[in-house]
Order: sequence, then C-alpha cells, then structure tokens
Amino acid sequence: MIDSHAHILAQQFDSDREALISSAKKSGLVWIEVGTDVLGSKHAVALAEQHANIFSSVGVHPDDIANIQEDDWNTLEGLAGNKKVCAIGEIGFDTYRDGTIAEQEPVLRRFINLAQKTNKPVIFHVRSKSASGASASSTPGVGALTPGVFPADAHAELLRVLASYPTSELPPGVIHTFSGTQEQAEQYISLGMMISFSGVITFKNAGELREIAKNIPLESMVVETDCPFLTPEPFRGKRNEPSFVRYVIARIAEIRGVSFEEIEQATHQNAKKLFALD
Ligand SMILES: [Zn+2]
Repeated sequence: MIDSHAHILAQQFDSDREALISSAKKSGLVWIEVGTDVLGSKHAVALAEQHANIFSSVGVHPDDIANIQEDDWNTLEGLAGNKKVCAIGEIGFDTYRDGTIAEQEPVLRRFINLAQKTNKPVIFHVRSKSASGASASSTPGVGALTPGVFPADAHAELLRVLASYPTSELPPGVIHTFSGTQEQAEQYISLGMMISFSGVITFKNAGELREIAKNIPLESMVVETDCPFLTPEPFRGKRNEPSFVRYVIARIAEIRGVSFEEIEQATHQNAKKLFALD
C-alpha cells in the first residue's frame, strides 16, 4: 500500500516512530513524508534518505509562508534535487484561518516554478473558510461557518491559477484531501491533476465526497492518511497512522462496489506513476 501523504515526523509519533517505521517495512507499506515548512522539509528528506520505504516532499504549507526568508528558496531548491524527493508540497491555498489568496498566490507560483525547474509533481493543499461536509478540517465542527460570508473559494482560486499556465508547462500533481465539488474534481482532472482521498471519506457527513469518489475515473485517484490527522472510522478521534490508509481504500472499494485489491492496485499504480517511485 502507498500512503501518498503522511507526517510521521509530527510530535504525536515521538514515542513510537521507529516501531511504526519498522513494522511498515515488514508489511510493505510505503509513504510520502510531506514537508510543511523549510526545517520540516529538511527533516523529511533526511528521514527518506534513511528508509527505503519512505519518500519525501519539499514545500511550505500556506499557513507557514510568512516565515520564508529569501535565503530559504536556495535551501528548498537544493533539497528538491535529492533523489528521494518525489514532489513539491504541500503548497497551495488556505483561507481557513487568517491567510488570504493575495498573499499566498505569489508563493504558490514560485513553488510551481520550482516544480517545473526540478521536474517534480506538486502536492496541493486547498482549504476554504466555508461550511462543507467534505471539509478537510482536522478539527471537525470548527469549519461550520455561514456559507457565503467568506467568499474566497480556495478551489476556484487554485483552478484559476492552474488554468493560467499553458498546459504543456503545468506540472502534474495531486489535490490532497480533496474537499471540493464534483465539477471542481473534473476540472482538476482535465488539468492533469489527481484527486486524493483521506479518512474524511469515512466520516458520516461526507456524502458528497463519497459521490465524487464513486464517479471519478479510477486512473485519477490516490489515497492518503494525512496522519496524525483525519483518522478514518472506526478509529476517528484517535491518532492516525500510515497503515490506516487501508480503511480509506476499503471505503472507496465499498462505495464503488469493487474489491479492496482493485482499489489498492489502482491507487498504488497511480501514486507510483505520478511520483515516479521505484
Ligand atoms: Zn498534510
């Protein structure tokens, strides 16, 4: 199995990280350790260099871009050239807290430029300040704000940015923990993006997201945990971990009426191809 988005370096794993890594090795579990800031990206690359079953990405989460120094871009570019780095990310738009599209867009474009330069796919993080059953909020319930009060739809904004590039210059990528509409999923796919599903798909209020997982082509989906967050049922409320990606796969198989193996193999092949994993 491949978990396309994990944060095993999070402090929630301080007590048993090594044990989780060695049991993952035994069971053939592979994941991408996703960087969310400059130091974290550095650590993610170091972790991937130590373990054959771990790859890493290099990026800065939109909530952390205020801390980027000009110097950091050289560091990030150097890290991105490492052979265990399979993607640029997580980068994107997040208007859930105080961030605005206006301040995040120039940084996002600079990262897309880095992806073009290093020939790597992109892991996009996209979260809006709107009420949605499919919200990527890691603290469920907090996102239930009045729709329309905060008009910036981060997905619409990202689609606008992506569409501004000539198709031949747009790097491939994945929309991690997808939280948009069916129409937006189709637009991303037509731009060459994959849609990634996490434990959110098992949540009671994620009916719209399950419809999307049922309808989009199998060639366009990957799976992830986003651990330690977004723990799937039946463990919701507990700490998430890479091996729980099986519950995401199982739920998609159930929704589409196919076997676990079929979804496992398809998402495995898709991730392998997108991130050029070997
Ligand atoms: Zn993440």
